[in-house]
Amino acid sequence: MIVLASRNGRIGLQAAMQAMTNGGSAVDAVEAGTRVVERNPEDPTVGLGGLPNILGEVRLDAAIMDGRSLRGGAVGSVRRHVHAITLARHLMERGPHVFVVGDGAERLAAEVGLSEEEPLTERAAAAWRRRLLERFPDLDLDRLAQRDDLLRLVDDLQLSMAGWEEMKREAGPGSTTHGTVNFLAQDGDGNVASAVSTSGWAWGYPGRLGDSPVLGCGSYADSRWGAAASTGTGEVVLRMSTARSILLYLKTGMKLDAAVREAMADLRALDDPLVEHIAVIALDRGGEHVGYAYRPDERYVYMTDAMSRPAEAQMPAPG
Ligand code: ASP
Repeated sequence: MIVLASRNGRIGLQAAMQAMTNGGSAVDAVEAGTRVVERNPEDPTVGLGGLPNILGEVRLDAAIMDGRSLRGGAVGSVRRHVHAITLARHLMERGPHVFVVGDGAERLAAEVGLSEEEPLTERAAAAWRRRLLERFPDLDLDRLAQRDDLLRLVDDLQLSMAGWEEMKREAGPGSTTHGTVNFLAQDGDGNVASAVSTSGWAWGYPGRLGDSPVLGCGSYADSRWGAAASTGTGEVVLRMSTARSILLYLKTGMKLDAAVREAMADLRALDDPLVEHIAVIALDRGGEHVGYAYRPDERYVYMTDAMSRPAEAQMPAPG
């Protein structure tokens, strides 16, 4: 049994492994690990404490996939909840839909009995106000209290299309406006699962969705081949279906290492500077795992049932 995660998933690895040593499946493991990270207010990229969009709203995206059945569930742009991954799991298990966003996802959360909890922390709200004031020192912050005013502000301040080039520059390596948590696991039956949860692109355009909630892009799991997931600016991963590509390359007979590098070369071929922010982790059905990152000094974390504590592995550039 093995669990791996993006570096910020370290705090959830033990819970994920515990879920499997208690008899749970790979799906139980990836959900359990993700929930720990979603609950951590210190992580500005996931769940509680996640940074808001330009309107000051934290909207969460998540996806989960069961590699045994190829069932999946994904939610996007969910307000007033912390555990988007659990909502995605409810959707996966109760279907018939696979992907539900916005008001519908919030309604679904109420129907399945998830209690509401505002993920916007004071610290994240203060960071958002600071961000606006940095860029627009003359802003009357009192105006920001009303959502309608905020919507007008998006136009007034040209944070719409006119501001997009600046947003792209901010999203490069070293960016603090991005982040996601990835979990991949393989259980004692050899089945794999994937989970991804994020608050998306901080200060992003209202309604923006990245790769994280899109199955096949930000994550994918198929027990016949393995599982893969990514972090970083979703706008490039969305165009290359990176996670599913990795599994297809595995299916053609490539080794895990070559499959991940090939999918990352596909990203590089986009010739888009946002690629510099992408990191990918992957697991094959033999339990081998790798991680590659275009951003420097990146690591992922993992734990097997034979280990008493998590270990870190380097994520070199794929070349
Ligand atoms: N992948 C996420 C998104 O594009 C955010 C990130 O990992 O930077 O929304």
